[in-house]
Amino acid sequence: MNKAVYIAPEDQDEVDLGWMREALVMAEEALDNEEVPVGCVFVRDGKAIARARNRTNEWRNATLHAELEAIDHLLPFNPPPLSQITLYVTVEPCVMCASALRQVGIGRVVYGCGNDRFGGCGSVLDVSTSSMLDTNVSFEAVGGYYREEAIMLLRRFYMSENQNAPNPKKKTTRVLKTEIPPPPNVTVSASTSANASATASANQSKNPSRSNSNANLPLPIGGTLASTPKGTLTPTADKA
Ligand SMILES: [Zn+2]
Repeated sequence: MNKAVYIAPEDQDEVDLGWMREALVMAEEALDNEEVPVGCVFVRDGKAIARARNRTNEWRNATLHAELEAIDHLLPFNPPPLSQITLYVTVEPCVMCASALRQVGIGRVVYGCGNDRFGGCGSVLDVSTSSMLDTNVSFEAVGGYYREEAIMLLRRFYMSENQNAPNPKKKTTRVLKTEIPPPPNVTVSASTSANASATASANQSKNPSRSNSNANLPLPIGGTLASTPKGTLTPTADKA
């Protein structure tokens, strides 16, 4: 059963959205370097302490997901447990990364779109909160932050020819789909801080797009967003 948790756009915090925009900038950098576009930022006390993106192709190392690269950099200065740290990542952490995050005791994870093939925060396995694991305490993981932008980055990558594939396929006749379905089976409670539980799906498209209340914010796609405006970032510990 899918346990991925989505926050409805109208309930998303501006501070979280600001940091997610920074993670999207990293994902764009990955795309520019022909990597699967996933980017992340680790935040402590309102400051970014590590940023990373996928580098699996660059180093021919399938474990170099954005989250693990960032953890490598921050651990020497931030010994576990990382309970005061929030991770913002454009795609739901995979099972491998979710396990690592739980082992280092991450405080909270905020992600963009779900990962319905490898997701470790509920979409495939519930590594983040399962009581079957006795590895550290569980961590909160919530998705849906700039979900559409995260999906479009992935689509743009998979539209292009992967020169790292053994036999790169010509995809010049493909058309980039822009319709984004809502997370299927979304349930939103009546409270103002409602969470929306849903099956994560970054690739399947059957339903019409849900309107996004954040559509008026600057979009990171296409390199038009440089950074989060200064002065808008505050500690996120209240939601940890
Ligand atoms: Zn991963």
